[in-house]
Amino acid sequence: MKKPRTAVRTCRRKQASSQEGREKQVLSSSPVKPSTPDGEELRLSQGLARRQKEVVLRASVSPYHLFRDTAEVTVFRENLLSWYDREKRDLPWRRRVSRQGAGTEGWHQPPSTLTPCPGLHWQAEGEVDPDRRAYAVWVSEVMLQQTQVATVIDYYTRWMQKWPTLQDLASASLEEVNQLWAGLGYYSRGRWLQEGAQKATGVVDGNVVRVLCRVRAIGADPGSTFVSQQLWSLAQQLVDPARPGDFNQAAMELGATVCTPQHPRCSQCPVQSMCRAHQRVEREQLLASQSLPSSPDVEECAPSTGQCQLCAPPTEPWNQTLGVANFPRKASRRPPREECSAICVLEQLRALGGARILLVQRPKSGLLAGLWEFPSVTAEPSGRCPREALLQELQSWAGPLPATHLQHLGQVVHTFSHIKLTYQVYGLALEGQTPVTITPPGTRWLTREEFHTAAVSTAMKKVFRVYEGQRLGTCKRSKTSQVSTPSTRRKLSPGQQVLDSFFRPHIPTDASSLKSMAQ
Ligand code: SF4
Ligand code: ZN
Repeated sequence: MKKPRTAVRTCRRKQASSQEGREKQVLSSSPVKPSTPDGEELRLSQGLARRQKEVVLRASVSPYHLFRDTAEVTVFRENLLSWYDREKRDLPWRRRVSRQGAGTEGWHQPPSTLTPCPGLHWQAEGEVDPDRRAYAVWVSEVMLQQTQVATVIDYYTRWMQKWPTLQDLASASLEEVNQLWAGLGYYSRGRWLQEGAQKATGVVDGNVVRVLCRVRAIGADPGSTFVSQQLWSLAQQLVDPARPGDFNQAAMELGATVCTPQHPRCSQCPVQSMCRAHQRVEREQLLASQSLPSSPDVEECAPSTGQCQLCAPPTEPWNQTLGVANFPRKASRRPPREECSAICVLEQLRALGGARILLVQRPKSGLLAGLWEFPSVTAEPSGRCPREALLQELQSWAGPLPATHLQHLGQVVHTFSHIKLTYQVYGLALEGQTPVTITPPGTRWLTREEFHTAAVSTAMKKVFRVYEGQRLGTCKRSKTSQVSTPSTRRKLSPGQQVLDSFFRPHIPTDASSLKSMAQ
């Protein structure tokens, strides 16, 4: 029954090529070992390719932005890890939970008001598995990146109950991850965690990017492919093979507590002696005070030639007032792209087992990958009414439908990380014993209860509220609403006329004007 969809330019198809904001990078500090000879070959060839890439990268980079030798790398690791062992924050996900009668040696007993982190489990010998601890911190850090602690706690707890170890997460499906992540926003984070679990254990997050950019005076855009590869390579070089989890946590901790975006505390930094940003500040201060020694013993990159791909471009000169915060360069923030979509809640009110609504799954990559949403089509902001295209889209999923029941209900504006999407919300409610029983691949007919716990975005919940408000008659009128009138009715095909005899419009047209819901 599902028709070829070439005639309809769907919203999903267009968005599939988008990326949801800048992605974090996953580093492989302890790659998973394949068990088969083929896997071994693949692993070796990947390792070779990576080393070749690193050699090429290094060949094109000034030594100023690199670590000189293994001795310097060793000092960096030692300084960072001993600082971390001394200063690490007492966070719930790092806390060792006391075993009955085993005391609290080493880690703190959690206050009774705190729920022990479900991801931490005692081993037979009474030690917390450091890999599990690293995993728990990783999950929490990723969740906390765009979301407040109060919101994260519930999600974090449920996540760790469902996937207490990295291995558990690695075997989870994207569908499950999206379902648990629903409502937390920035969905690429959940996907990224799952993909990371499948191939790696180390992390470079925003904090680590900042630290590395400062330590090696990288002033070029950290979002560019070249700089991103260079940061990846630096982190690979630095990560301590003996304590990769702790090293990653230490680097993130340094960025979160000392090398902060606005007010870094360089005097308390364990790697200050190796920090090129700090050296640059001292040199600039000397220059400013006109007391620069005649032959300064200061390492520099090719100064202001515009040749170095890791230095700031000449158009972005040093800002004295920023100090070390000249690094990293701020990613240029473009205003979100504006897009429009016509979307429809298609509901069978008398379906078997109760009312059911149609959802279709988004592509596995791109914006909101793998999430479920109501059928939609892309609409031009000032173009013709997308009603016909939307009806075609609906029929491509559900077969012939009564066109006159398709009602415009209002609009929802939702801003994703880089797209401001305006949904023109339609509703089509089918009453009576419906013959629509088909469920083509990639579709689901969900009950309301299932919808509320499904892997759907916040935007879909807003769209559904418009539809619900319409049905309950609680929404106010909107100037922007368009109401279907007899003059707009299409000539129905014979099949549709038959269907019309089954279904009566459920949504009264006199209540179909809704106030725009804008976020
Ligand atoms: Fe950051 Fe300052 Fe430490 Fe450099 S010395 S890494 S800028 S805190
Ligand atoms: Zn440079």
